[in-house]
Amino acid sequence: MTAITGATVVAGVVGDPVRHSLSPLIHNAWIAAAGLDAVYVALPSTADRFPKLVEGLRGGTLRGLNVTLPFKEAALAAADHVNPRAAAAGAANLLLFSPDGAITADNTDGLGLLGAIAVQASGFDPKHAPAVVLGAGGAARGAVAALLDAEAPEVRIVNRTRARAEALTQTVGGSPYALDDAAAAFAGAGLIVNATSAGLADQATLAWPLDAAPAEAVAMDMVYKPLVTPFLAQARDRGLRTVDGLEMLIRQAEPSFEAFFGVAPPADVDIRALALKALEGR
Ligand code: NAP
Repeated sequence: MTAITGATVVAGVVGDPVRHSLSPLIHNAWIAAAGLDAVYVALPSTADRFPKLVEGLRGGTLRGLNVTLPFKEAALAAADHVNPRAAAAGAANLLLFSPDGAITADNTDGLGLLGAIAVQASGFDPKHAPAVVLGAGGAARGAVAALLDAEAPEVRIVNRTRARAEALTQTVGGSPYALDDAAAAFAGAGLIVNATSAGLADQATLAWPLDAAPAEAVAMDMVYKPLVTPFLAQARDRGLRTVDGLEMLIRQAEPSFEAFFGVAPPADVDIRALALKALEGR
C-alpha cells in the first residue's frame, strides 16, 4: 500500500454491522493492483446516527460510500440527487459526494445480480419466465427493479411481512405473495432469488418449497457466508442451477469502484479467489 497522504482518495462502506464486510478487501486489492493513491474503509453506524454521519461527510474528502444493511432506504432519503436505478429501486447502495457538497444516490445491486447470473448461469434469459424474489428489504428492491428493467414478464415478491411486500409492489412493481403461498410463486418460475437476511437457523426452518419450481429454474442467494447457504444446498438437491452471493458482491462492487476512482477494476486480479480465502478464514 502506498503511504496515506493529504491527497489520498478515501471511499468506504457503511452498515450495521460492517466489521466483517468483504468490500474493503475487494476494493483495496483493486486499488493496490491499479496503483491508485486511495484507500477504502469500513464505517459502522446505527439507525439514529446514519443521517448525521452522511450529512457530516457532505463536501468533505470522502469520495463515496457503499451502503449495506440496514441503511439502503435511508441512504436514498439522505441524497440530493437520485439516479434512475436508485429511484426505480427506492433504495441506494452507493452514495457519491461531490466537492460542491451535493450527494448523489445510485444502486448497483441490480447490476451485481444480473452480472452474477451471467457468470454462473450463462444463457439464462430473464425475459423467458416469471422471477421470484424472497424478501422485500433494500436488496430485494434493487433486485425487483433490475429484473423488471431486464423485462422479466412478472416478478413475484414473497415476504414474511405482507405489508412490506405490498409497499414494494406499489413503489417498484411486481406482485406480492405471503410465505404460505411460496409454492404458487415458484410454479413456472425461471429464477428464484433469496434476498432475505434470515439467519442460518431460520433459513433451515423456512424450507422453501423448491419442488414446486421447474427443473430448469435458476436459484440465487444474495447471502455469501456460507458460500453454499441452506437455500442453495436445497436448490442443488433439487437439481437447480445455482448462483452465489459472493459473485453478486463482486459484480456490484465493480461499478462502485469505477464511480469512486474513475477507472475500472484491474482485470488481472483474481478477486473471487482472494474473497474466498478471506471467507475460509472466518
Ligand atoms: P433488509 O432491508 O433488512 O431486509 C431483510 C429482509 O429479510 C426483509 O424482507 C425481511 O422480512 C426478511 N427476513 C429477515 N429475517 C427473516 C426470517 N427469519 N424469515 C423470513 N424473512 C426474513 O436487508 P437487505 O439490505 O435487503 O439485505 C438482505 C440480504 O441480502 C442480507 O443478508 C444482505 O447481506 C444480502 N445482500 C447481499 C448482497 C451481495 O452483493 N451479495 C447485496 C445486497 C444484500 P420482513 O420484511 O418480514 O422483516
